Amino acid sequence: MIDLSTYRKRRERFYAQFEGGAAIIPAASLVTHHADCEHRFRQDSDFWYLTGFDEPDAVALLLPFRPEGERFVLFVQPEDPSLEIWHGSRFGIEGAVREFGADVAHPIEEFSGRIGNYLEGCESIAFRVGRHPKYEDIVLGAWAAQLDLSARRGGAASSLVAPCPLLHQLRLRKEPEELERMRLAARISAEAHELAREAIRPGMNERDVQALIEKHFLEQGARGPAYGSIVAAGENACILHYTANNAPLNAGDLLLIDAGCSLEDYYNADITRTFPVDGSFSSEQRVLYEIVFAAQKAAISSVYPGNNADGVHQAALRVLVEGLLGLGLLVGDIDEVIERGLYRHLYMHRTGHWLGLDVHDVGAYRLGEQPKNLEPGMVLTVEPGLYISDRLPIPEGQPEIDDCWKGIGIRIEDDVLVTEKGAEVFTNAAVSSLEQIEKK
Ligand code: CA
Repeated sequence: MIDLSTYRKRRERFYAQFEGGAAIIPAASLVTHHADCEHRFRQDSDFWYLTGFDEPDAVALLLPFRPEGERFVLFVQPEDPSLEIWHGSRFGIEGAVREFGADVAHPIEEFSGRIGNYLEGCESIAFRVGRHPKYEDIVLGAWAAQLDLSARRGGAASSLVAPCPLLHQLRLRKEPEELERMRLAARISAEAHELAREAIRPGMNERDVQALIEKHFLEQGARGPAYGSIVAAGENACILHYTANNAPLNAGDLLLIDAGCSLEDYYNADITRTFPVDGSFSSEQRVLYEIVFAAQKAAISSVYPGNNADGVHQAALRVLVEGLLGLGLLVGDIDEVIERGLYRHLYMHRTGHWLGLDVHDVGAYRLGEQPKNLEPGMVLTVEPGLYISDRLPIPEGQPEIDDCWKGIGIRIEDDVLVTEKGAEVFTNAAVSSLEQIEKK
């Protein structure tokens, strides 16, 4: 687990960039699953990043405009044995100070009564509107009251800003401690894909494979899957977010598995592998797999400081389109096909996303017109694919798809760190070359 001093350093980095301001960062609440049953608790990633506190119904105040020793305030659920016997123990007010380094802590019930005082004297308030309905009226009300009294009091916060640009910029560049956790999540997840590769046989069900993968996550101490595991046999692989996972594995089909674990401190992995159910690729599957594999290699080679996420996407896209032109699944001039998006019925997603505390992690991909440059410490997925089906209309001038190709869905996804020299692939332990896959 990440040491609590790391959370303190993050708060200090935030203070340094938000001098004069006051930030209000709420925790997540429990979410109803059905009737009176709740989903398992998942902390808000921004709140977690700054506090390491894993309970619902809390609010962190970061007050860089205040002197040292008064800057970190936590509102938390107080200890309550009669509730804790049902829902688990709480750190309470004292625990928030003792264990999490809060300068001051209060019961969450006192948030609305106290927030006005805490905001007094700040120049700017950071609060994400639209996300925290429980607190939004209270925060806006406190600011309104401050403005109403500003003539007599001699000032009020002059702006309400979103904390996300600053906070997400911090989260985008991972610290060494975070990278260690992400390497661990990647290792466990890669092992699970290897177990699946060795186990799959015709006659199994997608759900059997899901069970095997998620069992490994839990056995290795992870919380469980980082997102709904996708175990998609045959043409189910052409549904990008397929999660029904309840179809048989048939000989001759491919099995696409997109699954990664989430650790106790919420660091995630996100891996996709595509295997032949009976151990060998048909000629059509093989040639498409080789194209996706080559596209992924080209994309990973283009992960280096100074390039950008779009550059990585374009590297993959060019190889995919070139391959499809070679097979006659697309026709025309490569630049025109790419520019006009004439491939999108076969490759309809981008080639990757940031990865971190969120599986689709925060951080801008562009700053206005300018794509954001890759920098050492950023982690992204690289995941080209091909999905041959006739679900989407074929663009004008492009060929009909022969039946022999239909129902083939392939994606290969790895987790890649941008380093000074280029890229470090976290997930290589899950084999992906055609030779290694067929060797089983
Ligand atoms: Ca994925």
